[in-house]
Amino acid sequence: MKVLILGGTTEASAIAGFLAADTRFEATLSLAGRTRAPVLPAIASRRGGFGGIEGLTAYLRDHAVDVLVDATHPFAAQMSRHAQAASRQAGIPCLSILRPAWQSVPGDHWIAVPDMTAAAAALGPEPRRVFLTVGQQELAPFADAPWHDYLIRSVEPPDPACLPPQARCIAARGPFTEADETRLLAAEAIDMLVTKNSGGTATVAKLAAARSLGIPVVMVQRPPCPATLSVPDAETALAWLQHQHFTTAERGV
Ligand code: NAP
Repeated sequence: MKVLILGGTTEASAIAGFLAADTRFEATLSLAGRTRAPVLPAIASRRGGFGGIEGLTAYLRDHAVDVLVDATHPFAAQMSRHAQAASRQAGIPCLSILRPAWQSVPGDHWIAVPDMTAAAAALGPEPRRVFLTVGQQELAPFADAPWHDYLIRSVEPPDPACLPPQARCIAARGPFTEADETRLLAAEAIDMLVTKNSGGTATVAKLAAARSLGIPVVMVQRPPCPATLSVPDAETALAWLQHQHFTTAERGV
């Protein structure tokens, strides 16, 4: 069974690893190409956009893909929309792996906002020391709130042209521990944290650290998910693919 995995997440790497070890599947991992040195599993891979819905549909047909697995980031809304539309046009199923969103617990002080512009506004008129962990692509709105001090952490260094004037950058890739996150927030005298509600375990420790230090968290809510068929993790996706393989083989297709 030929599987195309749209990746860029821990879940994509995990399902790619599972399929690499299962000879019933021939899988290819597709990456957007945002990370310069991605950790690649032992399956075929490709990088870069497909050229919209038409491009992805053509790829699925040309490569006789049987199943599309959308394991992109919960905030990669455009790619997920394209995956739904292209799989429909190509007449194949699209399985989405969508990790659950983080939920607040007692002791948290979360300010929910719909997007990055609202996140910058939620920092308020008083100068703050802000820990900004929203990736490197969407920093522009914070340049419109230049009275804050920003500590920006991302996997890839951001474009200097998009940075607010008082910004320092750290390049780091999770997982992070609660002890390290608490030390960092305290050492930097951070009084506001901004994050997307990405979910998952790799970057969740900062929320526990913020809770223990009484730091408010501006939480950017997820965009709507267009998936009609979704599972929460790579293990359940593997079980679904194995079942799909079994029923296809039964039908003698
Ligand atoms: P997007 O806005 O949904 O996608 C923009 C375009 O990038 C897509 O239309 C597609 O181009 C291409 N693309 C995206 N994922 C691809 C993949 N796996 N394989 C091939 N092409 C792909 O997503 P984004 O710009 O990557 O990111 C949006 C949000 O997701 C940001 O908040 C970002 O921080 C977060 N995020 C993304 C990744 C990632 O690996 N992409 C990882 C972590 C976080 P075509 O239309 O030309 O096909």
